[in-house]
Amino acid sequence: MSSFVNDPSMPLTALVNIAEPLDIRGYIAAGGYVGAKKAVCEMSPQQCLEVVQDSGLKGRGGAGFPTGMKWSFVPMFSADDGPNNSAAPDNKYLVCNADEMEPGTFKDRLLLEGIPHQLVESMIIGAYTIGANKAYIFLRGEYFLAAQRLQAAIDQAYQANWLGSNIQGSGYQLDLYLHTSAGRYICGEETALINALEGKRANPRAKPPFPQVSGLFGKPTIVNNVETLSNLPHIFKHGGEWFKALSPNSDPGTKIYGASGRVKTPGLWEMPMGKTIREVLYGKAGGLQDGLKLRGLLPGGASTDFLTEQHLDVPMDYDNIAKAGSRLGTAGIIVLDDHNCPVGMVLNLLQFFAQESCGYCTPCRDGTPWVVEILTRIEHGQGTLADIDSLHQLCDFMWIGKTHCALAPGAVEPLRSSLKYFHDDYIEHIEQGCCPIHQGSAKTKQVQGGN
Ligand code: SF4
Repeated sequence: MSSFVNDPSMPLTALVNIAEPLDIRGYIAAGGYVGAKKAVCEMSPQQCLEVVQDSGLKGRGGAGFPTGMKWSFVPMFSADDGPNNSAAPDNKYLVCNADEMEPGTFKDRLLLEGIPHQLVESMIIGAYTIGANKAYIFLRGEYFLAAQRLQAAIDQAYQANWLGSNIQGSGYQLDLYLHTSAGRYICGEETALINALEGKRANPRAKPPFPQVSGLFGKPTIVNNVETLSNLPHIFKHGGEWFKALSPNSDPGTKIYGASGRVKTPGLWEMPMGKTIREVLYGKAGGLQDGLKLRGLLPGGASTDFLTEQHLDVPMDYDNIAKAGSRLGTAGIIVLDDHNCPVGMVLNLLQFFAQESCGYCTPCRDGTPWVVEILTRIEHGQGTLADIDSLHQLCDFMWIGKTHCALAPGAVEPLRSSLKYFHDDYIEHIEQGCCPIHQGSAKTKQVQGGN
């Protein structure tokens, strides 16, 4: 785990302790389970939904969809509906997407390993709000320590009557299961995750129907990311207005930002939503290592478009990063320095996406390995100018609306933006018949192009 320093003013990570996370007694002593108690003992599910909607919380997994709106699509149960109605609590599910596997992204791991009871509390609030009696945490298989700590937290919560029947005398029942993934990146796509949870091959499903109506075992299901859910105990404890006031701009709350690559201090920092790239990269990560210069960065993990030095003062929120031509994604910045080859970096990313393609649709199944083949040729000095045209064409073939899910368009984002900002690097590889940087002639390059 990279460096992390607690900031007591930041709600999600103030109590994070990687060496020894709080057990249930410590978590309660620090103010834990207050939000869950308020929700299940004092409020109706409808009132809880209004709290989430009013808070303005958006999904932190990458898409930034309003959480309250997503939950509002789940059919709610009324006493007149009868026990077998699709809205009955036994027929609905809350699923936490903890299948964190995006290269450059490790923010959820911090919460899973460092404060597992916060997620258990979040699951209680979320499941109660959508009226579900069963919930799952779908965890990346390689997160062994997180699995151990989460299971211990779940066991403690059952013993203390925060899970099981009649939670804290409220009459509400919730069973929470931990499921470790067999290990594919595509399981982070919510419908592929649902298939995997059902024991099927992890291919994404066609939408509609959306999981909120027909998800796990064909029943209404909400899938939310770890960081999204982890906001709930704090929103219920302090209120929606408090949550909005955490951020100076229109996207409320905080965000766990990250930085990796050759920066002085790679790590994670929870900060008010909307801090600029410069504040994260230079203010927290200390800038690039000595002797290196910034050439570009992926602002939100491996499946986002490159930005460059001209974007350093762009606020890292959903709208502003989109206006700059990329996506906030997971807010894990990956840095490209001037001693690293952009073509090689993109090749490395595309090798990952080609390996992780589920193979269901042709543009992605055949397109991602084709891109890898072309990039390998260029990187090794055997490319031609026609290869650049082919890369542009492949970006188009794999773009939004032409594939079954978002993996392929995400894979294309670093590629197409590298063709825009680092076009001269591609040409140099072809004209010189080698990689100029890996041949030892690292040069300081000016990034071309505008926004
Ligand atoms: Fe599978 Fe890729 Fe098609 Fe998504 S885009 S369904 S990962 S082949």
